Amino acid sequence: MEVKEKILVSACLLGVNCKYNGSNNQTDELERKFNHIASKYEILSICPEELGGLTTPREVAEIKDQKVFTKSGKDVTEQFLKGAKICADIALQNGCKFAVLKSKSPSCGNKFIYDGSFSKTLKKGDGFTAKALKQLGVKILDENFSLDDIAK
Ligand code: SF4
Repeated sequence: MEVKEKILVSACLLGVNCKYNGSNNQTDELERKFNHIASKYEILSICPEELGGLTTPREVAEIKDQKVFTKSGKDVTEQFLKGAKICADIALQNGCKFAVLKSKSPSCGNKFIYDGSFSKTLKKGDGFTAKALKQLGVKILDENFSLDDIAK
């Protein structure tokens, strides 16, 4: 039996209702793309914030000064760190080389995240899980990936 390489994917991009507001980020185009790569990869669905112990729905949160706070000011850094650690362990245990993660998220965002002012303003930076995975050498893509990006 063929053993497929494994790839991490943000659960909300796969249609899981784990987004802070109880919805997801799936689109028809994403569904098509994931169906296509599923022929070559085993998709491992991860939601770092749920894995870190946060409930869904939950209060929106953003990174400020290396910590994570909800809009009302609750410090949820510990849960974000825990989720990132669990996802990094999953990547290590499964030899993942790629991850397709939701852009701009304080967990999954790659290269750009919201700036902590809850005003939809972006700044350069990585979400906690994207950062932890990068440190392991995992290549991070976002929902705008092209199939060529992960072609073998
Ligand atoms: S933590 Fe990541 S997978 Fe979970 S809802 Fe946020 S963006 Fe999606």
